[in-house]
Amino acid sequence: MERLDWLIRGALDPRSGERVDIGLQGGRIALIRPIAETMPLPSSIRTFDGDGYAVLPGLAETHIHLDKAFLSSRLPGVAAGLQQAIEMTAALKSSYTADDIKARSREVLNRASAFGVTLLRAQVEIDPILGLMSFESALELKREYVSAMDVQLVAFPQEGIFWQPGTAELLERAVRMGADAVGGIPYNDRDSSEHLDYLFRLAEVSGLPVDLHLDFSDDPRQLAIQDVIALTRKYGMQGRVAVGHLTSLGSVELDAARRIAAGIAEAGIHVFTLPATDLYLNGRQDTCRVRRGLTPVRLLLEEGASVCFGSNNIRNAFTPFGTGDPLDIGLLLAQTAYMGTSEDVMTVLGMCTTQATLAIRGKKSDILEGATADLALVRADSAAGILYDRPRDRVVWKDGQLVGERANASA
Ligand SMILES: [Zn+2]
Repeated sequence: MERLDWLIRGALDPRSGERVDIGLQGGRIALIRPIAETMPLPSSIRTFDGDGYAVLPGLAETHIHLDKAFLSSRLPGVAAGLQQAIEMTAALKSSYTADDIKARSREVLNRASAFGVTLLRAQVEIDPILGLMSFESALELKREYVSAMDVQLVAFPQEGIFWQPGTAELLERAVRMGADAVGGIPYNDRDSSEHLDYLFRLAEVSGLPVDLHLDFSDDPRQLAIQDVIALTRKYGMQGRVAVGHLTSLGSVELDAARRIAAGIAEAGIHVFTLPATDLYLNGRQDTCRVRRGLTPVRLLLEEGASVCFGSNNIRNAFTPFGTGDPLDIGLLLAQTAYMGTSEDVMTVLGMCTTQATLAIRGKKSDILEGATADLALVRADSAAGILYDRPRDRVVWKDGQLVGERANASA
């Protein structure tokens, strides 16, 4: 007890419904025990009164674009669909500067940190227009924010690889410079198989995981996921491949979709549903009974697949909305994926905490003794209160350090 750095007193553990004291020491959770009403404490221990707060592992943002956030005011109009969103954004790129990218990125990172995010995976655009400017900026930000969150960088060829000569060389340079994952977008290149084959070979050579944008449409024929399942097995990458969107699968007839979902689970592929963007850009061709264009989340869960969610875009042509709060996306998912039970609340919270950490760090976060002390306290009295009210009053510890200073923390 004498050696604790912090004692968080009386916060609610939403899993058990019990209030607990949590001691932090050396960047780890040193003790968890039922709240003690009176406990003499050495004056050297900093305490935080957790009464009225619920405690979660630090939130994890699995899929977000920092470099094209907050571009809405520069757009000539509203995108009518995915292809136009890609074209409108590409047209803006030549006006980016490193300072501009960093300023807009910081706006997202500051928000995310205040919302409780301690782990974030960013998709960083690499193409002949930007070169490595966005990637170099992101590397600087990764260092700048190290005390608040772990930032992972995906080397992402948004404009394709093979119909943009020079992109492959830039991707390989980004990998050597410190990318954390190999990204891809087979639906925006001249040949999906060629694109995927190249990326899995790059992943094999570099030893990095793969994180793809995949099957982003409401067309049931767009099923590159089948190739990704085969490549994941071929390269022995089970557990180290993630796919974002995967909305085409939601338009596939049930029996076939179920077989593919079982294949995804068997191959250990993590699925990142991105409902804010998916709802906004899909279903645009339907004039009645409009498809939602969503990832079939319940089906994937039923088949045992790993499913998490991400914000993807914030206030740009792809998604004119967004706050950067993972819990906002969690609520949107719960509402649109018919996840309305108390068990569903815990599943959704897991999708932006423990499961998300498994998907992008390879290790589940948790609130248990010995775990890394990345914690997000939310002012709520139940798990449902966290997700349905999404209170803005949050207190965050990263590696056992309080992120930002709080008036009600004793020092
Ligand atoms: Zn994305």
